[in-house]
Amino acid sequence: MKTIGVLGGMSWESTLPYYRILNQETARRLGGFHSAELILHSVQFADMERCIRTGDWGTAANILCDAARKIEAAGADFLILATNTFHQVAPEIEAAVKIPFLHLVDVTAAEAHRAGISAVGLLGTRATMEMPFYRKRLEDRGLSVILPTAEDREVVHRIIFEELVKERLEPASRTEYRRIMNALAAAGAQGIILGCTEISLLVEESDSPVLLLDTTAIHARAAVEAALAP
Ligand code: GLU
Repeated sequence: MKTIGVLGGMSWESTLPYYRILNQETARRLGGFHSAELILHSVQFADMERCIRTGDWGTAANILCDAARKIEAAGADFLILATNTFHQVAPEIEAAVKIPFLHLVDVTAAEAHRAGISAVGLLGTRATMEMPFYRKRLEDRGLSVILPTAEDREVVHRIIFEELVKERLEPASRTEYRRIMNALAAAGAQGIILGCTEISLLVEESDSPVLLLDTTAIHARAAVEAALAP
């Protein structure tokens, strides 16, 4: 089995399910006492949150490139970045290391195609929903992307930073997400990408009228697939 490099801690609440799914999926595939072989570097979230809030992608790239080099030096065979938003600087990270980088958007798009979906709703941080790095990559892979209204994008973003990254799961916020997912489905979304690794802490399949594409689970399972590939 290859050693998976995990660039995590954005936030730590969502790195926990990554760790769990990486191990569960390895055990499911290999049986017995098998678990994932991995190297985790968990960054300082206060620095990363400031980068998002101020749009300082240069500092974010520096921090993440440095962490990626440490993971490579520690012996990882390939790398995953356990957050959607910071895929904004994926090109810089890929250039900073020699080991392969398993891009979250690519494996999510592949999963949408496997499910026979061509129009997806997208929920995530403001940057993920509004900046081109994410949406364009989905569109380049043949998916049309439906966003919440500007007002609802603020609701989605605010709940992530005021609640989900602080271990707060509020029923009223689940109700808001349900309402927004219903609106995305009514606007033509055949599936909804949970494009932020904390959202699946709050909502599950039964909260949505259409299929949920949970990037945390999809990315972690794809990493195990890559780790077990010959
Ligand atoms: N985990 C979130 C994501 O997947 C963003 C929260 C953060 O890293 O600030 O985009």
